[in-house]
Amino acid sequence: MGKVYLVGGGPGDPDLLTIKAYKILKEADVVLYDALVSREILKLTKPDCLRIYVGKRDGRHSLPQEEINDLLLRFSKVYDKVVRLKGGDPFVFGRGGEELLFLKEKGVEVEVVPGVTSAVAAPSFAFIPVTHRGLASSFAVVTGHPNRGVDWSAFSKVDTLVILMGVKSRQRIAKELIRAGRNPEEPVAFIEKATTPDQREVFTTLGELAENPPEVETPAVMVIGKVVDLGREVLREALSYEQHR
Ligand code: SAH
Repeated sequence: MGKVYLVGGGPGDPDLLTIKAYKILKEADVVLYDALVSREILKLTKPDCLRIYVGKRDGRHSLPQEEINDLLLRFSKVYDKVVRLKGGDPFVFGRGGEELLFLKEKGVEVEVVPGVTSAVAAPSFAFIPVTHRGLASSFAVVTGHPNRGVDWSAFSKVDTLVILMGVKSRQRIAKELIRAGRNPEEPVAFIEKATTPDQREVFTTLGELAENPPEVETPAVMVIGKVVDLGREVLREALSYEQHR
């Protein structure tokens, strides 16, 4: 019986892979990977490593979760090192917990390798610290997926709100947060394709987002709170420096 590794591949930039994930990928016999995993990272695997795409995007399941579970189980009977590679961290909206429970129930040995989550790395790469003395002493990470029944009023007082999978519902989320008492003047950032060469930031306010939402491409991390202005300021200065040069 082999072992299954639930591995976080980080937010996109292959250099943000952990050394542990790197070592395991080098030795993997089979890798089942998601849409948000960078091609560069897959290139680290052995030439004879079996690479299987099981990704899902926007509710379009290319493989149902039960089939992924089943594949992991079957591969663990044949191969030594089975890697389930996910974007970011495997336990942050990655369904890693479900795979862990399923495999444990079947008696399969599992190791979890945490990854750098986009929830924190995307803001970082836009110079937005999720906490900052005097500005933000709490942050929450929430799904913006419409079917998850999130109670937005619970997040009216969290200093920095980080929303994953929220692009499609961005206008509705803004309206709900304003209704729940958040200030419409509050700054909002979307960081698209964070940590990749195509990263782009879109800045707005909660009020503007509720009235007239800007275009945003997926994947993107949405950040709401005072700390957003910090990143915006740094990026503005960097830009004017570039233009000056
Ligand atoms: N496990 C992942 C999150 C999976 S949910 C993690 O820890 O990062 C998928 C959501 O993550 C996307 O809808 C988007 O909001 C966010 N995301 C993941 N990678 C991203 C990236 N490189 N840039 C922007 N958003 C990203």
